[in-house]
Amino acid sequence: MPENVQMVWRILQDAAPTYLVGGAVRDLLRGVAVHDWDLATALAPESVSAIAVRYGWRTQALGMRYGMITVIVSQSLSLEVATLRMEGDYNDQRHPNQVKYGVDIVQDLGRRDFTINAMALTWTGSLIDPFGGQEDLQRHLLKAVGLPTARFREDPLRMWRAFRFLSQLGRDWSLDETVNHAIGELAEETKTTSYERRREEFWRILQSVDPLPGLNGLRNSGLWSYWWSGFHPSSQDWKTSERRVAQFQDPVLRLTALVWCCDAEVVTKWLTQGRFSNLVKRRVQSLLAIRRVDWTVLPVQEARSLARHHGVDVLLDGYKLAGSSANPSVTLELYRLADNPQCLTLACSGQDIMAWAEIEPGPEVRHWISLLEYWIDQDPVRNNRQALQAYVVQKASNARKFGR
Ligand code: ATP
Ligand code: MG
Repeated sequence: MPENVQMVWRILQDAAPTYLVGGAVRDLLRGVAVHDWDLATALAPESVSAIAVRYGWRTQALGMRYGMITVIVSQSLSLEVATLRMEGDYNDQRHPNQVKYGVDIVQDLGRRDFTINAMALTWTGSLIDPFGGQEDLQRHLLKAVGLPTARFREDPLRMWRAFRFLSQLGRDWSLDETVNHAIGELAEETKTTSYERRREEFWRILQSVDPLPGLNGLRNSGLWSYWWSGFHPSSQDWKTSERRVAQFQDPVLRLTALVWCCDAEVVTKWLTQGRFSNLVKRRVQSLLAIRRVDWTVLPVQEARSLARHHGVDVLLDGYKLAGSSANPSVTLELYRLADNPQCLTLACSGQDIMAWAEIEPGPEVRHWISLLEYWIDQDPVRNNRQALQAYVVQKASNARKFGR
């Protein structure tokens, strides 16, 4: 456990019983690296806040209303501190109507989603496991705390979480029969879950060691169709997507591989609706824009032009996604450009062009830039000031002479 986490835990524990909970306990018991530390404390949120102020911890209190405070222990590490609580009815299927504090740890664990996530560790190292989480960890079984139909009705995101955990935990894990059955029955209820929350779980599936169990689960259970109704791949197309997805680690490449056969505009609409970041959206769009490139016959000069337009990284990824072998000179050129991306930038400025061509600022400058870029793409050696100047002066003088 990182020292900073231990220090925060100790300070809170000195004030009131405080437990390690959630994914951290699960992952410690599984013997895998913990990336996310959650504490549950008997202290009221205001007391946690006051302690944080006293010790000079940076905090975020976005979830304060629901008893949660994020303590930022270092640049790359933050800690969720939640006050022990029970939740009342769920009005909007996300936030409970009321949160009741002053409950004990077992009651707090009872509001959690799956048994393997409903264990706590005390400061002295005892495990509190009222729902058989440890046994389910051994059996590799994802089981709900309580009745799955009731728990999924309260918060339908839990169905997405089930598939996210399948992808993270590995192929030898399965859903408990009652969980499976409840998802089949209640898939439609996720319509009311915000796109952000579903996207977050979907993204975690794409980041998992093995995204396929999660993706297949979403598709087969029908959850997917309430998220992106425009995506109905045939079994054959889905198999092809699966094979493609499995070849990549990068979540953006996995995502692009999944929608490889879809209309680009439909994909963009979906990514917007699903609140994907602009960065992800732009990368997927660029990759889809170059998917028709025939790499086996692509001339090197065109590869340079595409690289300038979309970026060398996108081109290298697009080439991987296409899964075909490129003309070797294209491959070599892309690697060269990846090491020297400045080669794609003209070795002169717009001011230079205006002076050499004797023109005023305006659209004509843009036209010259395109012309020069085309010219250097035919032979990158031309990309030096002298050669560019000679070319512009000559061409401009010809144009004046012949009235073009
Ligand atoms: P990870 O290690 O990937 O962060 P995690 O299990 O810690 O997984 P979180 O989303 O960080 O998952 O949530 C922390 C804990 O809070 C969970 O382990 C679970 O006990 C509880 N939890 C989170 N979301 C829900 C939910 N929608 N319904 C019930 N309990 C939840
Ligand atoms: Mg977590």
